[in-house]
Amino acid sequence: MSLSFTDPMTPLPRERGLFCNRTLNMRAIRAIGYDMDYTLVHYDIAAWESRAYEHLKQRLVAVGLPVGHLVFEPEGIIRGLVIDRELGNVVKANRFGYVKRAFHGTRPLGFEELRAAYSRTMIDLSESRWVFLNTLFSLSEAYMFSQLVDLFDAGELKAVQSYPEIYELTRRHIDLTHMEGQLKAEIMAKPERFVQLDADTPLALLDQQSAGKQLMLITNSEWPFTVSMMSYTFDRFMPKGKTWRDLFDIVIVAANKPSFFSTRFPFLEVASEEGLLRPVIGPLVKGKAYYGGSATVVEQFLGLSGDEILYVGDHIFGDVHVTKNILRWRTALIVRELEHEIRASLEAQEKLDLLAELMSDKEVLERDHCTRRLLLTRLRAGYGPTPPEEIDTEEELTTVINALRARITELDERIAPLARAASEVSNGSWGPTMWAGNDKSHFARQVERYADVYTSRVSNFAFATPFVYLRSQRGTMPHDVAPAPAAGKGAYATGAPSTRSELLASESDVAPSGSR
Ligand code: IMP
Ligand code: MG
Repeated sequence: MSLSFTDPMTPLPRERGLFCNRTLNMRAIRAIGYDMDYTLVHYDIAAWESRAYEHLKQRLVAVGLPVGHLVFEPEGIIRGLVIDRELGNVVKANRFGYVKRAFHGTRPLGFEELRAAYSRTMIDLSESRWVFLNTLFSLSEAYMFSQLVDLFDAGELKAVQSYPEIYELTRRHIDLTHMEGQLKAEIMAKPERFVQLDADTPLALLDQQSAGKQLMLITNSEWPFTVSMMSYTFDRFMPKGKTWRDLFDIVIVAANKPSFFSTRFPFLEVASEEGLLRPVIGPLVKGKAYYGGSATVVEQFLGLSGDEILYVGDHIFGDVHVTKNILRWRTALIVRELEHEIRASLEAQEKLDLLAELMSDKEVLERDHCTRRLLLTRLRAGYGPTPPEEIDTEEELTTVINALRARITELDERIAPLARAASEVSNGSWGPTMWAGNDKSHFARQVERYADVYTSRVSNFAFATPFVYLRSQRGTMPHDVAPAPAAGKGAYATGAPSTRSELLASESDVAPSGSR
């Protein structure tokens, strides 16, 4: 959707907002580094990942695996899930690392199975057992892993001995798929099948450049792919006589992020359009393109310190985690899924509100039930404060308790389908990226920790302007007296979602009634 600039006070649709975890004054930002893939250039996820999957599959067939019949399901995996290499599962965890939902291979685990596998386990991403799906490039790999687990369980993968081995095999071959030229050649030959254009992305960068900010492109992609994607995506929208190259003070390809941010690899200069490389003698030069290198030298080139530099990327570890942790650059994470998920939540709002209302009724009934049950216990055991005279007899109390229990059960029956629907908002298998059960997801926790702001796409910065002051909202705690201010009132800057219906957005993985 192209944005209308006729009335600057027209609020953006909610899904195009800039969501702010930590206050960011764009006026104080003097340089902005951009990632390319899934940041400046957005791909049709199903199209890209389907091709990556096919190449991966052909590689596995070539090493003798019986996978020729397998088919990719783009909805089968979402970003932010975690592979459990030990058990052959893909799981979704909440912000504390507790597993709230899991699939073994492509089969969902039931409540009891989930409890048996994970009730004593907390995900710690520093352990090699867990693999976090950081990027949309992970979807094909994770889905293939799940399908191979199915085949292994069925005894059809004779050459493989264990789930970790399945993971290693998948990883090695998807890695090679990305690095060999064939997949990229296919994409460069028919970019219109893969790239989703957005005229407002070059506009956002032109605005930032005109506002005096130095711009950089820092991508892990190789030179030929970068040139091909950037020309296709940007040049048609650039002012006459200018190309994408005119936007950037410096272009860095094959950057090898996240190492780029933490180590000191040397730079090579891209000396010709064909990508000929030569050593760099002396400092980096404005307008040139480089290969490899490191962020420390970039800081010297810019003559700026960490908090004056903003880095915008889509990879939660490679682009924002390390950048923030080591260099203290300001960070923006691109989460395109937000658009679909926010729209889906808005469409489901009526159901979510009803769910919240019923949950609140249930809380009142439960409180009543607990209080009377305790009273009955004390009466029977003959201890505790003397009850007031009007209090029911044991028999009456039992009748009321049973009636309350029946009403709670009745409510549960109304809540269950609503909760299930809420938990399937935006993805039938996994629900929304940012929620796990009725808590924030592990992905959401990382977004909060490492991304100062997050937004669905770079062009949302065009609407916000290069001068915007993005303010974070006051955080919330369960004991807070006043309800948190409603999110989303402003035109572009909003804090974390906090309405009750949003918090309940995925209730169905609470324990079923019978298990209490
Ligand atoms: P960036 O997002 O612009 O930094 O570029 C991402 C690049 O990394 C793209 O060229 C991807 O094809 C590539 N890539 C993504 N996943 C893998 C992987 O698992 N192994 C090697 N390259 C990858
Ligand atoms: Mg990227």
